[in-house]
Amino acid sequence: MIILGIESTAHTYGVAILKDQEVLANEKRSFTTPTGGMVPAKVADHHVEHCDHVLRAALNKAGITPAQIDLIAYARGPGLGHTLRVGAAMAKSLALLLKKPLAGVNHCVAHLEIGRLLTPAKDPVLLYASGANTQVIAYEAGRYRVFGETLDIGVGNFLDGFGRALSLGFPAGPAIERLAKKGAEQGAELLRLPYSVKGMDVSFGGLLTKLKAMIRSEKHPPEQLCFSVQETVFAMLVEVAERAMAHCGKQELVLGGGVACNQRLQEMCRVMAEERGGKSYAPPNEYLVDNAAMIAWNGLLLHEQGMTLTPEEADIRPYERTDDVDAER
Ligand code: AMP
Ligand code: MG
Repeated sequence: MIILGIESTAHTYGVAILKDQEVLANEKRSFTTPTGGMVPAKVADHHVEHCDHVLRAALNKAGITPAQIDLIAYARGPGLGHTLRVGAAMAKSLALLLKKPLAGVNHCVAHLEIGRLLTPAKDPVLLYASGANTQVIAYEAGRYRVFGETLDIGVGNFLDGFGRALSLGFPAGPAIERLAKKGAEQGAELLRLPYSVKGMDVSFGGLLTKLKAMIRSEKHPPEQLCFSVQETVFAMLVEVAERAMAHCGKQELVLGGGVACNQRLQEMCRVMAEERGGKSYAPPNEYLVDNAAMIAWNGLLLHEQGMTLTPEEADIRPYERTDDVDAER
């Protein structure tokens, strides 16, 4: 079966083509800006501008013609309404043109399932650490459930806001990682920063406010700030992920989201899982960041459960919650 997947929940417009479990193409174009920040309408304009050649690139790379496509999967939510609409419109147009069924995929669940496809993990807890989302998710008792999450902004948005105050551009995560590594190599002293874990949840808003004031005071070099920020917020994430593993009795952790590309976060997760006698897995970076391959793969899973959509039913769900998703496994 040939599945075409479309991702457009935020800054990335992606088109992937899978032949069953095999990824034939995973193309994308991501919105970036030197000044930082994302204006939803502008990001949607970016997707409209690039959607046709990303599609063409994916078809060329996979070496298939549109007529060979059996199923069209698209990200239904959660995400920015403006950008979701671009992907959904492309998906609907293709479905009408090719007379093929659609599958509407939840983006957060897609991060979990691509982790199960691409790593040895069978029934993991997912630490999903991305720009807009920060959740600890697992499949338990017949549903995908959220065991912990951010109470305000996503960890990536937090890092980008912090990086913007340091004039690091957008996205700031990779620059912060480089500076933090330099700080660690220079033996930077760990700064005491607010550590906000509330039960199973985390929050970053207060820390961001504090950091902006610290940056204005010019007392600390960026390397020391970045090092201290990473150590603090990643420890918060690892703590709630560990608690979810203990609660569910699961021994596997899978990472997802752009922030999970961070080598220090991956290392901290590995150490935590191994200390529990478990294992932490991270798919290759291409599948950690927003990507259309995970949308196509989840589309196939929905198709196998008979959960396809007609073009009339193919809505977008900008606020869809992970635990609202009807899915069997
Ligand atoms: P996503 O929303 O999953 O595409 O992830 C985007 C977010 O990941 C942005 O906030 C980036 O700043 C962040 N990010 C990307 N690479 C890294 C990295 N190496 N370390 C920390 N954050 C990162
Ligand atoms: Mg994502």
